[in-house]
Amino acid sequence: MRLPVRTDTLATRGLLGLRERDLAQAMTQRGEPAYRARQVLDWIYRSGVESFDAMNNLPKKLRESLAAEFHLYESTIIADQVASDGTRKLLLRWADGSTSECVMIPDEKRRTACISTQVGCAVGCVFCASGIEGVARDLSAAQIVEQAMRVRGICAMGGARLSNVVFMGLGEPLANYRNTVDALHIINDEHCVGIAARKITVSTVGLPSQMKRLADESMQITLALSLHAPTDTLRQVLIPWAKRVRIAELVDACKYYFAKTGREITLEYVLLGGVNDKLDHADGVAKICHDMRANVNLIRYNPVSSLPYKRPTSESAQAFLERLRERGVNAHLRRSRGLDIDSACGQLRRRIAEQQLTTQDDSSAAADEPAAS
Ligand code: SAH
Ligand code: SF4
Repeated sequence: MRLPVRTDTLATRGLLGLRERDLAQAMTQRGEPAYRARQVLDWIYRSGVESFDAMNNLPKKLRESLAAEFHLYESTIIADQVASDGTRKLLLRWADGSTSECVMIPDEKRRTACISTQVGCAVGCVFCASGIEGVARDLSAAQIVEQAMRVRGICAMGGARLSNVVFMGLGEPLANYRNTVDALHIINDEHCVGIAARKITVSTVGLPSQMKRLADESMQITLALSLHAPTDTLRQVLIPWAKRVRIAELVDACKYYFAKTGREITLEYVLLGGVNDKLDHADGVAKICHDMRANVNLIRYNPVSSLPYKRPTSESAQAFLERLRERGVNAHLRRSRGLDIDSACGQLRRRIAEQQLTTQDDSSAAADEPAAS
């Protein structure tokens, strides 16, 4: 079933999608002083309240009028998987029945939230689970921020602080530009989620004009470009949208991003066994890096059931890494996380949708029962 393309799922607006200046405006419209906006933000982001009722330093009438126009949290957590390495994946269900994945990835020093920007993805990269059914709709800024807050809540339960946010879940962030940028500001704002810009990464399949627009937002966030191939020919096989954009145009947009922000680009490269993991591919990637200021993040493919691509051996991944380093590239092989859960983006969502279809077909247990994990 395809859902309508829209972002509002409730009659009220998601307050988590409002920047302080918009909230201050909502206050002045109500004849209230603008400082009330900061009070509301403190309740949400510092005290962690989930209802207007709990904001007891606001006049009752104001609380009622805010509740008539806005809601705070919308999602229900319908699945919660914990991997043996501590990676935790949540599946959130929105009011319209659509679902989004978000992940908490712990390591020694960090707690990273990986969040989604769309329900599905229109790009349809051949190796990715997120795009198999196309895109159903964009997520609103509020829904994007809500995922970061859900993950922050999980970190807090374990006595830790959320330190990093990566826009690497389902969807193409720059194809949902306005909502993504609003969410970026709110996640970055010290009075809201409060994650330092340098600890936020937006990953894109490569939309040059939006990459330049993002550079003009003057935020110090990291831009990650999903390269995955050193030539246009191979890239077009893996990424359907690469037919519209040449690597040379992407290099140009990356140079612009670096010039405007001073932030080095991260090139992401998913190693697909036997497809793009040969040493001459590495030589091609090194050449691209020499054209601009970029470092490379290699990711060994997380296999997706129903797709034919294979995870390369660790020897071939290591050889690829070493070749890049020999060529003077600052490259890293990303540790795969959460491999014993549905760790590839979009896999959990697909599996649960399939389970629900099966249960509906069987006319047995309720279709919206949380899946055991
Ligand atoms: N649409 C954006 C952001 C979401 S995907 C983009 O493509 O950049 C985030 C990253 O995960 C991308 O680099 C993508 O290629 C990678 N990815 C997708 N499926 C994967 C899989 N099964 N195994 C490893 N990486 C994957
Ligand atoms: Fe979409 Fe990114 Fe997956 Fe490609 S890799 S289908 S752009 S989410």
